Amino acid sequence: MIKKIAILTSGGDSQGMNNSIRAIVKTAKVYGLETFLVYEGYKGLVENLIVPATEIKIDQYINRGGTFIYSARYIEFKQEETRIKAKKVLESHGIEALVVIGGDGSYHGAQLLHKLGVKTIALPGTIDNDISSTDYTIGFDTALSAIVENVDRIRDTANSHHRCMLVEVMGRYAGDLSLHSGIATGAEIIITAENKMSTKEIISIVDEQMNKLKKDSVIIIISEHVYSDLNKLANDIETETKVVTRASVLAHLQRGGIPTANERVLATRMGVYAVDLLLENKSGLAIGIKNNKINALPILEALSTERPKLINEILMISKINQQ
Ligand code: ADP
Repeated sequence: MIKKIAILTSGGDSQGMNNSIRAIVKTAKVYGLETFLVYEGYKGLVENLIVPATEIKIDQYINRGGTFIYSARYIEFKQEETRIKAKKVLESHGIEALVVIGGDGSYHGAQLLHKLGVKTIALPGTIDNDISSTDYTIGFDTALSAIVENVDRIRDTANSHHRCMLVEVMGRYAGDLSLHSGIATGAEIIITAENKMSTKEIISIVDEQMNKLKKDSVIIIISEHVYSDLNKLANDIETETKVVTRASVLAHLQRGGIPTANERVLATRMGVYAVDLLLENKSGLAIGIKNNKINALPILEALSTERPKLINEILMISKINQQ
């Protein structure tokens, strides 16, 4: 049976990562296992930035966003000799297993370590919800709440001045944050990579909503990377419709902040399950949640699971919100 587990967080930070770390450390303690914290992701692994978890009072992070063991982007991990170094560092501590919390890039690193013989389990830590093998990733719910809170504020001022507001949200190439925040805020238009609209199409809807239906405001939620220049788009809408139009990019406001209750529950359940799997001597697995059940499947399968298409729901919700 394994005796020592290391944990690292990698790629973009997300709210709830701390809850998973805490859950892993405490579950391991129940089973008499030792845990080690690796600072700064794969970089820290190679550079031996590793401390025993007992040195940290971990409960203080139960309601803190970000990752208290830091994250890093470390391109060198794509080279095999770097990963072999990482394996040797783990061996020098007698650590047999590693839990990686991160997005799909981090999953690739975890899979390659597994192939090198390190027992590795991956947890989906990303606000983007872009790991298709799980219904929800760790961070998504809190980021969504942050978007909704900010769009509600933007709506208040938009209503007061009869404005059209473009709001850019994160998600990388996944439209989940856009769709869900569009549902929760009643955004009249939701635009993702799946349904990029022409300026002409957008202008026609804004014109109808504001000038014909006399709505107080129009909110347009737009996924990042869809348009290169939101200010130009706003200017074009304003010129054609005569509705004052502004663009807001929520950017890193979506990243930090207190994890929601659901986030803490999800992150904790996944962390507990990671230790269960390692106790069963499993490796190379990615943990997810499907139909409210925590599950695991091979990391490679998790990486190749096809994304569910959101387009029909996006179009339907936009239509509903335009009524
Ligand atoms: P995320 O995990 O949030 O998707 P990145 O794509 O930036 O974020 O990946 C995080 C880290 O994972 C990278 O900086 C690198 O250290 C490691 N990584 C990413 N892709 C690979 C790969 N193909 N092989 C090995 N390691 C990788």
